[in-house]
Amino acid sequence: MRRVELLDTTLRDGAQGEGIDHSLSDKRKIALSLDRLGIPLIEGGNPAANPKDEAFFQEAKAAPFLMQARLVPFGSTCRAGVKPEADKGLAILLSTEQPVISIFGKADIRQVRDVLRVTPEENLRMIEDSVAFLCRSGRRVLFDAEHFFDGADDDRDYAFAALKAACRGGADVLVLCDTKGGTLPDDLRSRTAEVLAALPKCKVGIHCHDDMGLSVAGSLACIDAGAAMAQVTVAGVGERCGNTNLSTLLATLQLKLHYQVIPAENLPLLTSTAREILEVMNVTPNRRAPYVGYSAFAHKGGMHIDGVMKSPESFEHIPPESVGNRRRFLLSEQTGRAGVYTRLKRLIPEIQRDDPRVKQITERLKRREAQGYAYESADGSFDLLALETLGMRKAFFEVRDFHVLSGNSAEDNNAQAYIKIAVDGKEEINAAEGDGPVNALDKALRKALMVFYPKLANMHLRDFKVRVIDSGGTASVVRVLIESADGPHVWTTTGVSSNIIQACFLALVDSVAYYLTFVG
Ligand SMILES: [Zn+2]
Repeated sequence: MRRVELLDTTLRDGAQGEGIDHSLSDKRKIALSLDRLGIPLIEGGNPAANPKDEAFFQEAKAAPFLMQARLVPFGSTCRAGVKPEADKGLAILLSTEQPVISIFGKADIRQVRDVLRVTPEENLRMIEDSVAFLCRSGRRVLFDAEHFFDGADDDRDYAFAALKAACRGGADVLVLCDTKGGTLPDDLRSRTAEVLAALPKCKVGIHCHDDMGLSVAGSLACIDAGAAMAQVTVAGVGERCGNTNLSTLLATLQLKLHYQVIPAENLPLLTSTAREILEVMNVTPNRRAPYVGYSAFAHKGGMHIDGVMKSPESFEHIPPESVGNRRRFLLSEQTGRAGVYTRLKRLIPEIQRDDPRVKQITERLKRREAQGYAYESADGSFDLLALETLGMRKAFFEVRDFHVLSGNSAEDNNAQAYIKIAVDGKEEINAAEGDGPVNALDKALRKALMVFYPKLANMHLRDFKVRVIDSGGTASVVRVLIESADGPHVWTTTGVSSNIIQACFLALVDSVAYYLTFVG
């Protein structure tokens, strides 16, 4: 079985992505998750350039916390005119006491001339001396050849001379960087093959960027040509369009091409690891992410659902559980009876596929969808609708009246809501102020209901989405989705109306009713 070594650079190149900012404790959590997954190399940051990264490496030295992964410090070669022994940056890299060190140097003559502003020979000296110095200190050295592919297109001999300098210095891996992300996979592949032929003593690694949406394809091409290492980030975060996506590359290598990347028994941790790290980074997960997205195994078309229920491989390229994801059936017009049946089974386990109630609910669902409802994401409202259709929905409360007043100031508490409800014929009137009309209405409704159901204090609204679904001028129909939670329980409800407040109110009422029916 062929092996590929993955180096995750979420904590270094990933931190250069827009909107990404890891705190010290975030860095630790992310490294721990990657370690648990079985990623062997975690580039932890640039301790010579960034005090937070320096603190991170100091902490890791004082109290090592990883089970199997190596934490790799990243930095540059020594400065021009300075011997490596006298270079502060290299000293800081060594002071981390990590056994693997990554340094970058320039492989593009134009960058050497215009940006670094040193002679071509001095740049080669800096590379070779720095790598040799770190190797003499007993470190395994990864050499990142920045701008390698663009450099080789412009001046092949110089780009290769930079690699040869690192190789003479004793680098273990020559990491070829497509720094601008503009090289096509075929060109990446042929250059990789050329390097391997010219420098058979060194291993080759690949560092791609996703500026054409091809970084996974490019990395696979290089691995196919013989690259032994690929550099990745979680969810592909990183400079500009980002880096190569860890989950996509890893699952493809392991499941499709049968490479050994992480221990096979760890692969089912992939989805939870990706989501856990995105949560730490405060990045919204991409629903359509290959392998690990919420929609990666979500089936909607009626024929698809029917097909998957009979034989999952009819519409799934891999079993979702092999990467720790799960299959979902979405409810919609297209879903038809098969989808309704699979959902209903959770509410009424003994129900049979040909039960007339399945048909009854399917028809009700279709009528609702014609009005603008969509139950695809609103599992909570679907369950309530099903119970209601079957005459099984318990009436916990009745809303007799409500009003909302919205002010025009930008201040907090700029809206007031008034509500009258009844529980078992007993009326309760309440009012509340809120940050906007929905918030005021939510507070008033719950204040009134908590008189009867104090446990409602445990639930809260997590997310709120509004979508205009029919552009008929001011008569547009609005669909509202509300996500609510109580500890581990999360449910989504929906409301549709030409009046936005009414749509919100319907979704709020469902949210509370769902809690009282199924959770609290
Ligand atoms: Zn990069």
